[in-house]
Amino acid sequence: MAAEHFDVLIVGAGLSGIGAGYHLQTAAADRSYAILEGREASGGTWDLFRYPGIRSDSDMFTLGYSFKPWTQAKAIADGPSILNYVRETAREHGIEDHIRYGHQVTSASWSTRDATWTVEAMRGGKPVTLTANFLFLCGGYYSYEGGYTPEFPGAERFKGRIVHPQKWPEDLDYAHKQVVVIGSGATAVTLVPEMARTAGHVTMLQRSPTYVVSRPAEDALANRLRNWLPARLAYQIIRWRNVLLSMYFYRATRKHPAQAKQRIVGMVREQLGPDYDVATHFTPSYNPWDQRLCLVPDADLFLALKAGTASVVTDHIEGFTETGIRLKSGKELAADIIVTATGLTLQVMNGISLSVDGAAVDPAKLLAYKGMMYEGVPNLATVFGYTNASWTLKCDLTCEYICRLLNRMTQTGLRQATPRNHDAEMGREPWLSFSSGYVQRAMEKFPKQGSKAPWKLYQNYARDLVSLRYARLDDGVLEFSNPTPKAAKTAA
Ligand SMILES: Cc1cc2nc3c(=O)[nH]c(=O)nc-3n(C[C@H](O)[C@H](O)[C@H](O)COP(=O)(O)OP(=O)(O)OC[C@H]3O[C@@H](n4cnc5c(N)ncnc54)[C@H](O)[C@@H]3O)c2cc1C
Repeated sequence: MAAEHFDVLIVGAGLSGIGAGYHLQTAAADRSYAILEGREASGGTWDLFRYPGIRSDSDMFTLGYSFKPWTQAKAIADGPSILNYVRETAREHGIEDHIRYGHQVTSASWSTRDATWTVEAMRGGKPVTLTANFLFLCGGYYSYEGGYTPEFPGAERFKGRIVHPQKWPEDLDYAHKQVVVIGSGATAVTLVPEMARTAGHVTMLQRSPTYVVSRPAEDALANRLRNWLPARLAYQIIRWRNVLLSMYFYRATRKHPAQAKQRIVGMVREQLGPDYDVATHFTPSYNPWDQRLCLVPDADLFLALKAGTASVVTDHIEGFTETGIRLKSGKELAADIIVTATGLTLQVMNGISLSVDGAAVDPAKLLAYKGMMYEGVPNLATVFGYTNASWTLKCDLTCEYICRLLNRMTQTGLRQATPRNHDAEMGREPWLSFSSGYVQRAMEKFPKQGSKAPWKLYQNYARDLVSLRYARLDDGVLEFSNPTPKAAKTAA
C-alpha cells in the first residue's frame, strides 16, 4: 500500500508545531500538511512539566504568537495558562484536525529522484510510513524520555523520595516536609518559593550561583493599554516594546559586563538586605548572559528567603545519606524529599535519524543556514528559539520564511531547496556559546554555526527579521533545483 503523502510534515504539536500549522495554512494555504506528535497530547513542554509553580520565565507578549494576542493580566504566566493558550490556538484555527497523536518519528530519508522525504514513525509499537516533500522539525530541543540527573554517590541509600521536575509524581505530598532542591537554574528558582508555601523548609542547594532578576508578574502598562486600545494593537505595541527593551539590555549587558554584574547583584542586595551573604549565594563567577539569567516574578524567591521558609546553600555534594545529603564542607542537609532540578538532556533533530540519498546524516557535521536549515540537507527546517529572548519570536520568523520558500518552490516548479556553502573560509563554531553544563554536555552532537552570515546565529530578533522576513530567498547560498517532471519537459 502506498504511504500517505503530504506536502509538509511537521514533527511535534507543541508551541512550535501548532504555530507552524497556523502559518502554513495561512500563508501557504495550498499545501497539505499533518503534524506528527509522539505523545497523546498537544502542548509539549507546557503539558509535560507539572511541577509546582511551573511558569514561563519570559514575558507572554513575546512568548505568545505574533498572530494571537496574549490577553491575560499576568505577563509571566503559569504553565496551565500557557498550555490553554497553545491548545486554544489549535482549536480556533482547526489545526487540531491535522495532528496525528501517538506518532513518534524515528527516521526520515530524502530521495532526490522523488523529491520526497520518507518518514518512519512508531505508532502503538508498530512502524508507520508517511511521505512528504518538506519536513519541518518542531519537536523542541530536549529529550522527553527523561531529564539530566548526575550520579550522586549513595543515592540508593536515601530513604526519602528523589524526584526530577520533568517527571513530577502527582501524589507527592510535601506539606510540612524538609525539601532540598538541587540546582540553581530556572526550574529551581521556580520550585523553591512555590514549595516553601507549604513545606516545612526548602533548601536550594547549588554548586555555584546564578544571576537572578526580579520582575513584576503583571505588566501594568500592558493591562492599561488593553483597556484603551483593541487587544491586537495593544499586544503588538507591548510585544515590540519588550523586544526592543530586551535587545537593549542584552547588548548593554554584553558591552559593559562589570557594570551589569554590579547592578544585578546590587538589586539582589536591595531585596535581601545588608546581612544576607549575597557574595556567596547570588554572585556568579561568570558574566551576565554567559548563561541564561533567571527571572523571578514579584521577588517571590527573595520573599521566601526573607521569611525563612527557604534558604540557599552553596556547596558541593559529597554523597546522599539515609536521611539527606552530606556536603563537601562537612555539613549535612536533612531531607524528606530531594528534587534534582539538574536540567534537561538536550536532543538534536528531535531524535530522528536522517539520511540523504542513502547516506546517513551526522548532525554534528552540519552547518546551520540561518539557524534553521542545514548544508546539504534539502527541504528540511527546524525551529530553534533564542537563548536571550523568547522562543516564539524566532519560531514565528522561521515559519514565515518556510512559507515564503514553499511558495517560491510552487511558483518556479523547482522541488528542492538546499543550502550550499561555497565559502572555503567559513569558520565553524558551536551552535550555542552558553557555558551552562546542560549546553556544554550536548554541543558536540549539535550542528555548527558559521563564522558569518547566513550561517551565523546572531541571537538577534531584529537581524533575523530582516534575514528571514525580507531578504532574498535566492541569495547564492540556498540552491533551488530538481524541477517537477512537467516543468523539466517544458524547459526541454
Ligand atoms: C520548564 C521550561 C520552561 C520554559 N520556559 C520558557 C520561557 O519562559 N520562555 C521561552 O522562550 N522558552 C521557555 N522554555 C523553552 C520551551 O521549551 C519553548 O519556549 C517552547 O515551549 C518550545 O516549544 P516547542 O514546540 O518547540 O517544543 P516542545 O514544547 O518541547 O514540544 C515539542 C513536541 O514535539 C514532540 N516531539 C519531539 N520529538 C518528536 C518526534 N521525534 N516525533 C514526534 N513528536 C516529537 C514532543 O512530544 C512535544 O510534544 C522553557 C522550557 C522548559 C522545559
